[in-house]
Amino acid sequence: MSETFDAVVIGGGVMGCATLHYLAELGVTDTILLERDTLASGSTGRSMTILRMHYSNRVTTEMAWWSRGVMANFEDHVGAPSGYQQNDWLLLPGPGNEEPARVNVKLAQSIGVETEVISIDDVSRRWPYMQFGDSECIVWEGKAGFADSHLVTSGFANSARSRGATVRLGVSVREILYEQGAAIGVNTDEGNIYADRIVLTTGPWTNVLLDQVCDPLPIHTVRHQVIRLQQQEGFDDIAATFHPIVVHIPSGLSARPDTPGYALIGYREDPVDRDTYNQGVDTEVAAEGMGILADIIPAYVDATWASGWSGLFTVSPDWNPVIDHVPGFENLVVGAGFSGHGFKMSPSIGLSLAELVTGSKETTFDLHPLRFSRFEEGDLLKSAYGGNVFA
Ligand SMILES: Cc1cc2nc3c(=O)[nH]c(=O)nc-3n(C[C@H](O)[C@H](O)[C@H](O)COP(=O)(O)OP(=O)(O)OC[C@H]3O[C@@H](n4cnc5c(N)ncnc54)[C@H](O)[C@@H]3O)c2cc1C
Repeated sequence: MSETFDAVVIGGGVMGCATLHYLAELGVTDTILLERDTLASGSTGRSMTILRMHYSNRVTTEMAWWSRGVMANFEDHVGAPSGYQQNDWLLLPGPGNEEPARVNVKLAQSIGVETEVISIDDVSRRWPYMQFGDSECIVWEGKAGFADSHLVTSGFANSARSRGATVRLGVSVREILYEQGAAIGVNTDEGNIYADRIVLTTGPWTNVLLDQVCDPLPIHTVRHQVIRLQQQEGFDDIAATFHPIVVHIPSGLSARPDTPGYALIGYREDPVDRDTYNQGVDTEVAAEGMGILADIIPAYVDATWASGWSGLFTVSPDWNPVIDHVPGFENLVVGAGFSGHGFKMSPSIGLSLAELVTGSKETTFDLHPLRFSRFEEGDLLKSAYGGNVFA
């Protein structure tokens, strides 16, 4: 059996579903999304879903800010709830990082983000139940927050479906089909599907399909552990139960409130095999993460470890994604390498991939910094903090 569509999107994570939605927004509705498992069954469903705008590069700052507008008004844009909850966001840069923090804040302010560098005295007055260790200053964002990854993913998919798109689950793409230098469709375990345009959003598994046509992307997978905590007596202060989202640069730990009475910690980036990694939480990692959080919010000293999971970051050499045509193919585009911070940008990524694959003359965002060839050219994006910091 074979079928034909205008466009096929491979992978039903948040990026594939966002692309399907924005294809429909651009008037392309004869589309099909193929997902081998269920929607959001990859990295998306395991995400901490934190939305913030603090980045070292203009393109990612702009994408995060624009996307935040979509997430916060998802009903208007997509016709469904996103589970968005606005929250303050505090970055503890640690010693020696005041200058990069100020540079990034200036960049974000220049595009309208509500953010400031705050002195330890000021921040301690506002959040008296928190401690800020050896950071010389704190970065604050007022319009950060988090959303629900399943609501966002299914919201995008349903918006496209209501305009004619097909979403097919339990179908695995085995290879992309080519003829005379053009991609013409995909071979699946249920037969061939032909399409004029193909979008590859298969997260950690991107190179499995890409390897057949070009050099693989230099991406690898790391395991990020998420520890879910139950708050105990120390949280009798109502304000503290919905405390700000916290990111601690020296340890790489992030934390946010979850459903009432609970919080999530995200911690560690350990290289693992994408198909065999341990999806649970290590006891010693949970203890270490809870200790770091209790140093920042001492009421967590009595918190109990309720549950948790691990998920995969698909990491590129500069911890930023590739949003581009696959080299040599005008009708095949790829979005991959989100390096643990893609969820917040998913609306802008979906829009960008839809624009690229439909041949838009101008894209909404300047995608040049996110091009495929930058690794080969040695023109990597840089973090103001240096090293493997996804900001
Ligand atoms: C623990 C954790 C915490 C995170 N926290 C945050 C955060 O706080 N903020 C933030 O912005 N980002 C965060 N992220 C990152 C964010 O979740 C990811 O960047 C984003 O979900 C990537 O989405 P994706 O659609 O590219 O990939 P995925 O969600 O992995 O989707 C890829 C899909 O492709 C499917 N697939 C693969 N191969 C095939 C095939 N051959 N045929 C058919 N289907 C196929 C898979 O089954 C999968 O469903 C976090 C990630 C993790 C793991």
